[in-house]
Amino acid sequence: MLLRGILAGTALLWGVALATPETYATPEAIDHDSADPKTRESGTLRLRPFSLGTPAAASLYTTPPTPSPQDADTETDGPAHQLHSRPVSAKSGDTLAGMLTDAGVPRGEAIAAIDALKPLFDPRRIKIGQDLSIDFERDSPIGEDPGRFVGFVLDVDYAREILVARAATGDFSAEEKEKPLVAAAARAEGEIRSNLSLDGSKAGIPTPVLIALIRAFSWDVDFQRDLQPGDRFELMYDVFYDESGTLVHNGEIQYAAMTLSGIRRAIYRFEDKDGFADYFDEKGRSARKALMRTPIDGARLSSRYGNRKHPILGYNRMHRGVDFAAPIGTPIYAAGDGSIDRIGRNGSFGNYIRIRHNSEYSTAYAHLSRYAKGMRKGKRVKQGQVIGYVGNTGRSTGPHLHYEILRGGRQVNPMTVRMPSGRSLKGEELASFQKGREELDQRFAELALDIMIAGED
Ligand SMILES: [Zn+2]
Repeated sequence: MLLRGILAGTALLWGVALATPETYATPEAIDHDSADPKTRESGTLRLRPFSLGTPAAASLYTTPPTPSPQDADTETDGPAHQLHSRPVSAKSGDTLAGMLTDAGVPRGEAIAAIDALKPLFDPRRIKIGQDLSIDFERDSPIGEDPGRFVGFVLDVDYAREILVARAATGDFSAEEKEKPLVAAAARAEGEIRSNLSLDGSKAGIPTPVLIALIRAFSWDVDFQRDLQPGDRFELMYDVFYDESGTLVHNGEIQYAAMTLSGIRRAIYRFEDKDGFADYFDEKGRSARKALMRTPIDGARLSSRYGNRKHPILGYNRMHRGVDFAAPIGTPIYAAGDGSIDRIGRNGSFGNYIRIRHNSEYSTAYAHLSRYAKGMRKGKRVKQGQVIGYVGNTGRSTGPHLHYEILRGGRQVNPMTVRMPSGRSLKGEELASFQKGREELDQRFAELALDIMIAGED
């Protein structure tokens, strides 16, 4: 109740305050073993640095700062060789060459420097707002002339930058650097009052993280129907800080749980032995459910997806589904969990059912002789549940099921579409998943303790 009080009372305030650096604990300020809760501030978001698990990634994010030309700044070399940088930000219509020459770089040198950059970065890909730091060297600290152009640093994204530097020979060379970042975990939680997007952002969850949260649960939860006021959500995701302690990137959700009408569903991120990361429940079952490619038993594939001569109309047309020939009355299964969003006569499709599985996938079933008992618009169905029976209704040359998988509202080939897996982890992978899951649970619990203590202040 205490937590709910905090959430209800000040969630919005935090959501706003999160944009300011004071609200986020800087990585340096976080003490793993601090026993003094008063050093932490309260909030729905808690942060804690942690290793990313893989040695490669860990080293990536803990690389000590690399001195770059602009770090040398004006005082290092004395008046003989003063380095200084001009920071510029790409505006609409800017080209990299234009940005360099505008800053005082001679055109020929700008082109030579960009040529060195090209193998690592296509200069046409420069985006509005992208930062560039242009480095010069001069003998006198004062003067209109920027001095000798010695290179530039191009900010690629939150994790990478490219250094272009001029050697003593005058040639330019380019090198990509990983920026030194500190990884931390952020915890957020809240209660549903209206919908997850609104209540999630009130709890301080950044929009891309919210979208990822909805996507991860979309096979299990119909966000338009299943959420009730009082349902709860909680999650922990990666955040990355630069050297100055500024939040520069929100990363992957590592753990999330939704408690809907008292039923809790938790998912954990896990990278399998092939390096493919996905979400799994406590038992190591994939949070993604596969759709059945053949939602019928003992049927013969009688027409494939693609161009064909139409058996009745006689001309070539695109067949946007697959046909399974089967006797009238053969049961047809729901290809996956979902809800019926269309049922009834549908022109040449005859008796027709369409199931919405999540925001991305639907499946459709045509030419049915009849529907299974209880089927109606809005009805929830489980994968493998009988929804209807093979027939010959609509424009059909013989009893068959016409089956479509729709992705983003467009038909895709059910036989070849790359389907989300419905797999379960086994053996060593399962053991490794369970170990990782326990660590995530523990980390999340530690962050929770911080909130409780902070709330009692
Ligand atoms: Zn067909």
